[in-house]
Amino acid sequence: MKNQKTDNARRSFLKGIAAIPVVSIAGFQTAAQAGGHGTMLSVDDPTAKALGYVETSVVAGKNCANCNLYTGAVGSTKGPCAIFPGKMVTAAGYCNSWIPKM
Ligand code: SF4
Repeated sequence: MKNQKTDNARRSFLKGIAAIPVVSIAGFQTAAQAGGHGTMLSVDDPTAKALGYVETSVVAGKNCANCNLYTGAVGSTKGPCAIFPGKMVTAAGYCNSWIPKM
């Protein structure tokens, strides 16, 4: 009986410990992206090239800042894009996947 209580307590403790890193990592990534940190997308990235990504849009009225896939803060100069996970794009940029912000 005593061993069963100890086992249950140990299991509960281990479950709690196991959950901490996942929450912390997810929180760190979200905070890092919102704060504008991260690796900038290179125009030489193969996917960027395939989509015609440029750091300064030449298409009137269309840029990353007003694209629905851009999740940078309003007024930011760079931010995350759903097409390029883990990378930051310039707010002034553009690619052929641009869709209007809703
Ligand atoms: S999908 Fe939108 S935010 Fe991402 S690079 Fe293209 S234009 Fe910019």
